[in-house]
Amino acid sequence: MKHNDENPYLLLTPGPLTTSLSVREKMLTDWCTWDEDYKSIVQSIRRELLELAAVNKEEYTSVLMQGSGTFSVESVINTVVPQEGKLLVIVNGAYGERMVTISRRLGLQVEPIRFSDTVPPDLHLLHQYLAQDSRITHVAVVHCETTTGMKNPLEEIADIVKKYNKTLIVDAMSSFGGIEFSISDLSIDYMISSANKCIQGVPGFGFVIAKQSCLKKCKDQSRSLALDLYDQWETMEAEKGKWRFTSPTHTVRAFQQALKELKEEGLNQRQKRYQQNQELLVSGMEKLGFTPLLEKRWRSPIITPFYYPEAPDFSFSQFYEKLKSRGFVIYPGKVTKVNTFRIGNIGEVYPSDINKLLRAVEDSMYWKHSRSKGEAQ
Ligand SMILES: *Cc1c(COP(=O)(O)O)cnc(C)c1O
Repeated sequence: MKHNDENPYLLLTPGPLTTSLSVREKMLTDWCTWDEDYKSIVQSIRRELLELAAVNKEEYTSVLMQGSGTFSVESVINTVVPQEGKLLVIVNGAYGERMVTISRRLGLQVEPIRFSDTVPPDLHLLHQYLAQDSRITHVAVVHCETTTGMKNPLEEIADIVKKYNKTLIVDAMSSFGGIEFSISDLSIDYMISSANKCIQGVPGFGFVIAKQSCLKKCKDQSRSLALDLYDQWETMEAEKGKWRFTSPTHTVRAFQQALKELKEEGLNQRQKRYQQNQELLVSGMEKLGFTPLLEKRWRSPIITPFYYPEAPDFSFSQFYEKLKSRGFVIYPGKVTKVNTFRIGNIGEVYPSDINKLLRAVEDSMYWKHSRSKGEAQ
């Protein structure tokens, strides 16, 4: 069965993800990017992001940036780390590694501390690095490593980074709006997320919640024109919601609706729903014989990787196609050492959908069916 508009499938992928019809419907209007009507939408989004983050408007500001989430990550690293600075990156998955790659491409001094994908980082090492290398000025970490679903210990990390008085950059792409955490209590200097993850908008831009006192120091530091976060901020402030270059107007309008729906559901309730999705998924999958990659205590409610089943005739692409024909799209694995596939728990997805998915998974376990047929012969 081919996918078309009349036969949609559920995206169990951590962005782009399944959005509500009401969010998608908001894209039916065209907007003029210079016009007051549109700029007021942008300003309301910027305000609401600060409200959602529960930060003080005098202390923090929000900036929107065109592109996928990586563009926003790159805009932060590129704009805020000075040439004489040094960035320490905590790496336990592909998104931490990506920040290292970005920094290298920018010609910055970068120090990765790499840990295994499947356990949280050893914070003694973080202490050691910060104590021994005084050239380090900034520390970057991924909150929820979407590679594995690992929820990194952000409170403890922020505590250490602040003891050493370093600037803290957090990639909270896949957690902001889905997991409660306090940007101001943790004194996070730059928090990065995007439209198409837990806020459940459509792809097209990312955003940064930045401590104003930090961002103000970053004028003329960017090595790039398009990804200059400072200039983008300055223009949005001075011209009240104007982006420097063409902005994804339909995406922005849809995002305003997505924020409204998040407010209606409540951040706490959304987190609970994702958690319920995950618990139901894991218990159902375990009953079917699958094993989750991470120990329970380290899982975030965002995405769940499972080991491939121990069946010689298992092929991910065949399994994927079978599930897709039943209306569910899942994700390939991303960890390096073992074979896994991933199932997203976020988006406009409810426990009833997970129940349907579990039935589809059971019916798609062709390696079991062929084996039992074989045994019967
Ligand atoms: C999705 C995601 C990103 C950004 O990925 P894009 O494909 O550029 O949107 C960055 N970090 C994390 C942790 C993510 O989950």
